Amino acid sequence: MAISCNLGFPRMGLNRELKKALERFWSDGSEENLLETAAGLRRHHWQIQKEAGITHVPSNDFSLYDHVLDTAMMVGAVPAPFRNSDARLRLADYFAMARGRTATADRVACSALEMTKWFDTNYHYLVPELDASSQFHLATRKPVDEFVEAAAAGIHTRPVLVGPVSFLLLSKDKSGANNPLRLLPRLLPVYDELLGQLKAAGADWVQMDEPCLVLDLNAELRSQCELAYATIAKSCPQLKVMVTTYFGHPGDNLSTLLNLPVAAVHVDLVRAPETLDAILGKMPPNLCLSLGLVDGRNVWKADLEPAIQMAEKAADAIGPDRLLIAPSCSLLHVPADINAEDTLDTELKSWLSFARQKLDEVALLTRAINHGRIAIAAELAANQATMTSRSASDRVTNATVRHRVATITPAMLKRAGGFQRRRISQREHLHLPLLPTTTIGSFPQSPEVRKARAEFMSGRSSDEQYNRFIRSQISDVIKLQEEIGLDVLVHGEFERTDMVEFFGSMLAGFAVTKNGWVQSYGSRCVKPPIIFGDVHRPAPMTVALTGYAQSLTHKPLKGMLTGPLTILNWSFVRNDQPRSETCRQIALAIRDEVVDIEVAGIRIIQIDEPTLREGLPLRRQDRAAYLRWAVDCFRLSAGGVKDATQIHTHMCYCEFGDIMDAITELDADVISIETARSAMELLGEFTRRKYPNEIGPGVYDIHSPRIPSVAEMLGLISKVLEVLDPAQVWINPDCGLKTRRWEEVVPALRNMVQAAEIARSQRA
Ligand code: GLN
Ligand code: ZN
Repeated sequence: MAISCNLGFPRMGLNRELKKALERFWSDGSEENLLETAAGLRRHHWQIQKEAGITHVPSNDFSLYDHVLDTAMMVGAVPAPFRNSDARLRLADYFAMARGRTATADRVACSALEMTKWFDTNYHYLVPELDASSQFHLATRKPVDEFVEAAAAGIHTRPVLVGPVSFLLLSKDKSGANNPLRLLPRLLPVYDELLGQLKAAGADWVQMDEPCLVLDLNAELRSQCELAYATIAKSCPQLKVMVTTYFGHPGDNLSTLLNLPVAAVHVDLVRAPETLDAILGKMPPNLCLSLGLVDGRNVWKADLEPAIQMAEKAADAIGPDRLLIAPSCSLLHVPADINAEDTLDTELKSWLSFARQKLDEVALLTRAINHGRIAIAAELAANQATMTSRSASDRVTNATVRHRVATITPAMLKRAGGFQRRRISQREHLHLPLLPTTTIGSFPQSPEVRKARAEFMSGRSSDEQYNRFIRSQISDVIKLQEEIGLDVLVHGEFERTDMVEFFGSMLAGFAVTKNGWVQSYGSRCVKPPIIFGDVHRPAPMTVALTGYAQSLTHKPLKGMLTGPLTILNWSFVRNDQPRSETCRQIALAIRDEVVDIEVAGIRIIQIDEPTLREGLPLRRQDRAAYLRWAVDCFRLSAGGVKDATQIHTHMCYCEFGDIMDAITELDADVISIETARSAMELLGEFTRRKYPNEIGPGVYDIHSPRIPSVAEMLGLISKVLEVLDPAQVWINPDCGLKTRRWEEVVPALRNMVQAAEIARSQRA
């Protein structure tokens, strides 16, 4: 009999209970409330999974903040201030590692661990810090405790662990060793001890997540991985270990994966369905195979027919007793329950499946394999009807949009003139000083702004009242920027909840959810819009407010748009056409908006693309193709304006090294980047490669509440001017000011403007 499994469940709770309990704990220290809420969520989620018919229900997939941080804590890989302390680490210490803290009488200071994206998802994990002296020991028993807790609630679970290979590969080795797995011999005894304890507690299966097996690994790393699992198999032979891969095809790691001495391996057949044959052809006897058939990364209802066909093929090849049926990856990346959406129409809802519904799909597929299709005949027929309704719907296909995409010409991907020509004509119109100052777009979203939006959303205030409020905010921020002396002003983005959701709510082909939250990091959740159909722009989106802002000042105002790639990367995308196709449609919609803003008299337009880097495929061989269409989409969105109109773009939190050529090819007139936080380290790539256009390296780290002094920013500016031509340089913060408070922003910007003035006078 095939076994139905889940690999992980969303942690937040249907109403983001975890977020609320966390934030309360951080503000008033109510630990009991947090722990009770967390335990309640775990119990509830185990129950939901069991009731849905899942046999292998995961435990230890839950985390108060992040599962990689939990693993670091568990193996004792904690930052120096916490090492060697005999005292048990308290909850507050755990969050200090996640969020940083300043020292008090009884607490050591700690800077937050670095945070980075979990593969190509929008989930961020905390990067454990290791070095040559790192020693490991079993410091917490979280997986055992949660297994026991579930058992007490009557649910036998399959504990989930971050596997030792991925743990080390995802960590940062501060001593800069070139073999990231050299610490394996020290780490493995901790896993041995843990597995022994899990066995003693009654576990029979353990899920070891090794998503790094879908990355480019060399032969040396592969052989160390084999060795690691040989050690694990030897020390704990009675426990069945399942090694899970996801987010891609194991590719040249496939033989390694299939020959690990473990009980089962999991593969993501949603991302890489074509690999099933290769896998079945190589399956060693006795190894069980977990088929990831239900998309854990997207919100579409599974097409059961092709999924059953794959499962049947596998059952024919290796027998149903060696099969496990599962989502492609943890359901962490999808919202909790489609039934909680009461604003989406029934047709659209019938196409969607969130975590709760995906469990049903896994259970159905398992029944089909174990009892034949006949056992799910009614559900299968209904599913096929839904698939047909979706593909045939005229909400999905728009002939005009398709025609426009099909007739994109190479000329549309290019500005009329080259950069030098554009620069001359922009200078004629803009009259900017040397080292012009500007901001990245958003100003603080104060409690007042959030309250006004909440009232508007809930219908307690009218369109007109809200609009009046937003306009008054804009007018205030324009006056403020003039008074501070900034050269290029912005309208402040007060009307935007989120830079992607805002556009998603206005573009056709998009739906926004009310409760479709997905964890981004810690307590932070995002609500990605859903792209279900061909995208177009029914009406201008930002022109009125941008025009209003420009009407209040004689200084140039910079219009603010989110770029096509970022809209794509931060949405749930349709799965019935390539991402590149969807992106072209979005690019055309943004292009229309850019042109309309220009027509409204705005001379500078910023198209934000903070996610160019994060859309990069996991495998090196796929990257060039992505960068080609990604760059083209940006150029398509920007290419409709006259030479005199200045196009800016903005990018943050990324290493630019491997995408430098693509960044240059975007051919934005000005790019602003995040550099203050790394003390200009990230600027290196731009100078080494002689970035040809204008550039604004951030001189104000907006991630910290600290107000940088004039001297400090002047210091950064001089660093910049040592390596760049002053005629090329803009002065701006690292990123938008949305999350900061006015008390910080106003003095910081005043200092920034003053620093720019001093730098200018030193040049004169
Ligand atoms: N214009 C956006 C803002 O200022 C840019 C945000 C971002 O880069 N993530 O908030
Ligand atoms: Zn940014």
